[in-house]
Amino acid sequence: MKHMLKTLLCIFTCTLLLISCTKESKSDVEQQAGIPTEILSRIKSEGFSTYDIKKLKDGYVVEGDIFLPDEWFKQKGDVKKLRIAEAEQYKTYNLIAVNGNRQITVSAEGLPLLFVQAVDEAIARYNALGMNLTFSRVGANGEIRIIDQWLDGWLGISGFPTADGNPFNLIRISVDAIGNFAPQGYIAAVISHEMGHCIGLRHTDYFNRNTSCNPVSQPNEGENAEGAINIPGTPTAADLNSFMLACFIQNVDRPFTANDVVALRYLYGGVQPIPNGVYSITAMHSGKVLDVYDASLSQGAAVIQYPWIGDNNQRWQFTFLGNGYYRIDALHSGLSMSYFRLSPFLSPQVMQLNWSGSTVQQWKVTSVQPGQFAIECRANGLVLDVFDASTDDGVKVITFPWNGDGNQRWVFNAQ
Ligand SMILES: [Zn+2]
Repeated sequence: MKHMLKTLLCIFTCTLLLISCTKESKSDVEQQAGIPTEILSRIKSEGFSTYDIKKLKDGYVVEGDIFLPDEWFKQKGDVKKLRIAEAEQYKTYNLIAVNGNRQITVSAEGLPLLFVQAVDEAIARYNALGMNLTFSRVGANGEIRIIDQWLDGWLGISGFPTADGNPFNLIRISVDAIGNFAPQGYIAAVISHEMGHCIGLRHTDYFNRNTSCNPVSQPNEGENAEGAINIPGTPTAADLNSFMLACFIQNVDRPFTANDVVALRYLYGGVQPIPNGVYSITAMHSGKVLDVYDASLSQGAAVIQYPWIGDNNQRWQFTFLGNGYYRIDALHSGLSMSYFRLSPFLSPQVMQLNWSGSTVQQWKVTSVQPGQFAIECRANGLVLDVFDASTDDGVKVITFPWNGDGNQRWVFNAQ
């Protein structure tokens, strides 16, 4: 990240030296004015700040610590925005291919003991979340190598996962800039931040640079909420201590906040929110359950809400797929809950279909408060919603952006 050593010194003790602070150049990191327009526009179109871009030999550094290799500019990535609470937003690029469970090796090479211990602490912080993605430290040549390099006063630089689902393979941290005697928790926070980039996390405050960085020198990028996915279950209060804020305060630890944990688990699952089994699914606003219309055995039969009568077209078999999503089958038919458009002349709707494994049949269950869940379709990132919050019998169920209303909250009862 853009280091707070420099930023805070600039803010609090040498405001007038801002220019000389930022123009200091001692290594292969050099600031260049002549960045090609097409590079600038690509950086901007991906939602990164175009302030203070640095050119390296084989790519560019944006937002202080994110390395975009030359190859990155030739790829079109899978960009996904995740909005958390009111004040935070992540935007991921490529993610790690987990395929069930994945352990990523990390090596700390040529680092002082204190920093090696901080690497272990950062790894422990991630592993404590019980995600599908875990880390282990190896002696050398890890899938993520952490090395010491003077970075012109910055704390660290890393990058995003590759298009084929592997972590960015190098974290450069500056022992001198962080401080040989810095608190271990602070170093662990810096390293966990860089590891966050390596597995696909953007800066929490990328849309509002004033959140953590020098407000004078770092213009906002504009909110541009298009395509943002509101994550079910995140609190609405502002949470401004995220470990993925762009700027750090010197010597201040940033363990994962509640929102960070939600974001990480959202991306890398791991915790199965409900056991596999058969459930009824009751809408909070109406007290009625999800039901296959007329107990039909046909593909394409609609999923509606109806009063509980206990038939098998109101019982649903949940099977965790290991990737954070469930397959949900109607017990009477064995067909799978799907969000699908049967023909170009019909709207897509929630229905039962033969299981094909498509993302329109994969559903994420997220606890939104004790005993209540949101059910999100993997294909569109939207949640199950009783149309128009109606309480009538037979009303169709749709998918809709999460807004927290009772017609999007569901209670599961084992059957
Ligand atoms: Zn960063």
